[in-house]
Amino acid sequence: MIRQAVIMAGGLGSRLKERTVSMPKGFIEIGGVPIIKQSIKKLISTGVEEIIIGTGHCADWFERLEGNIRLVHNARYAETGSMGTLACCAPFVKGDFLLLESDLIYDAAGLRVLVNERHKNAALASGPTNSGDEVYLEADADGFLLRQSKNRADICALAGELVGISRLTPAALEAMVSYLDAHSADMPNMEYEAALAAVSLRTENRMPVFVRKIERYLWREIDCEAHLVAAQESVYPYIQEAESLLSVRRETLLNPGPATTADSVKYAQVCADICPREAEFGDVMDWISTELSLFAGKGRIETALFGGSGTAADEVMISSCIPENGKLLIIDNGSYGERFAKIASAYGLNFDVYKSSSFLPLDVDRVKQTALDGMYTHFAIVYHETTTGLLNPAPELCRFCHEHGITTIVDAVSAFAAIPIDMDRDGFDFMASTSNKNIQGMAGVAFVFCRKDALEKLKTYPMRNYYLNLWDQYAYFKKARQMRFTPPVQTLYALRQAIIEAKLETIAGRYARYSACWEILVHTIKRLNLNMLVPEEAQSRLITAIIEPDSPKYRFDDLHDRARDAGFTIYPGKLSAAATFRIANIGDIRPEEMSGFTLLLERYIRTL
Ligand SMILES: *Cc1c(COP(=O)(O)O)cnc(C)c1O
Repeated sequence: MIRQAVIMAGGLGSRLKERTVSMPKGFIEIGGVPIIKQSIKKLISTGVEEIIIGTGHCADWFERLEGNIRLVHNARYAETGSMGTLACCAPFVKGDFLLLESDLIYDAAGLRVLVNERHKNAALASGPTNSGDEVYLEADADGFLLRQSKNRADICALAGELVGISRLTPAALEAMVSYLDAHSADMPNMEYEAALAAVSLRTENRMPVFVRKIERYLWREIDCEAHLVAAQESVYPYIQEAESLLSVRRETLLNPGPATTADSVKYAQVCADICPREAEFGDVMDWISTELSLFAGKGRIETALFGGSGTAADEVMISSCIPENGKLLIIDNGSYGERFAKIASAYGLNFDVYKSSSFLPLDVDRVKQTALDGMYTHFAIVYHETTTGLLNPAPELCRFCHEHGITTIVDAVSAFAAIPIDMDRDGFDFMASTSNKNIQGMAGVAFVFCRKDALEKLKTYPMRNYYLNLWDQYAYFKKARQMRFTPPVQTLYALRQAIIEAKLETIAGRYARYSACWEILVHTIKRLNLNMLVPEEAQSRLITAIIEPDSPKYRFDDLHDRARDAGFTIYPGKLSAAATFRIANIGDIRPEEMSGFTLLLERYIRTL
């Protein structure tokens, strides 16, 4: 698994003359976007978590880049070559990584080829570019790098032209740095490709670098004005075309999950087969649990993963978190609260249900009083009732329960990763969510978040089931770094990519985007004189239940089919008491798409 990339961006770019006097080469724009930004986006989409940029000339420009970026300054950039910049970055490299030059445009397929490459050290090469600035490569009979030169005459059998994208191990990097150190006197401005060829060729402690050639690879290095013109005219348009051929038809899901996913998340599922008992996969799951815990609060939170949908996580909590003599109060103001009660009943637990309107806010004082009067040990609530879009005051109620020694169980399946949550602050002991809602991954992984001290108590609780047992799942993973049973391997890779992207957007940023979509919807609803089921102040801003128009011509199926033809999926209401349809605004959707849908809705309503 490749988690880091290093971009060497220290160079002066003096051959680009006035363009790069006060700007690094990577900020040259093609198609209106700096080429280094295009590169960063491609790296993130390929699953890179952290990008290290070695800077030099005009280093402050890099501070404006977005992403999980670590800037490392090469103070001696004017005297060193790219190898000097790479050496500055080396201490921050933790594992296998991608190494790139900053002045490239390239087809993202090259990154996937390297990630998928069996040789752990490999340099991407192409057929002839005739760019006038080629670095020619020679390889041995097994395809490993022997020699590199800008002079074609130095090379016997041509293996390809160096692209400037490689994958390397930390050991190869260390060897390259040692080579630089050993030659600092005779080659002070060493370029990295010289070190790469040197470590590939050595007899002792050899780090062979495989030359991975793609004959018709689309790429260009931009070193001078002529390169820039050629790149703009005869390479960039083809890169765009090649990449667009891989895009998946866009379906905007306005149903309450599974939510729309990014193509990068879809593609993360397409990877080499792996036995999930391999340590490498344990690392992936461990990373996922740790990162999910960070989204759930600042305190000590442990996240257990299960193969299953969100309901599996609800069932895990209800079946695993209540002791023999426990007594549970369930708040039911929608179908997910009702589901909690059905699960509790299936396990024969001692529980009561507090029923409340599915569209009016809970009576907080009455709930508090009930919780105390009934001598309950456990309290279960749905944070966001997806049935109607009603946001329950779960933090206030759970904090209250906590003060009175009542353990809290929260279904945050459709709240997590949109509504900011801090389990310690909010008084949540156990919390459920899933991979296919606001975290924007694929369906198939259920999460149960646990405050550490609450979790420890489960050790002695009765084991009411086998597959969905929280303590067993948690303890086994801690011990073996494996799930007890076969995990949904590819779904977990997709979840990893979804988490990388959620971290970049931030949960606050995500909720702001969702809210912007919701506001567009609500604006249209009001303009069309439609009514919403839940008072605006009590809504989550994540899903809206709209009362069906009072017209004999209205049919949900007509609206649904029109929407579906235009690439939008909508969902009927879920309440028997009120005729509604629901529009969710979660997932990888953009405000422009919601505007597109509201236009369609308006056209349909006008036909009634
Ligand atoms: C989606 C959802 C669930 C889980 O439903 P599944 O069909 O099992 O994925 C549970 N609770 C709430 C509040 C939800 O929105």
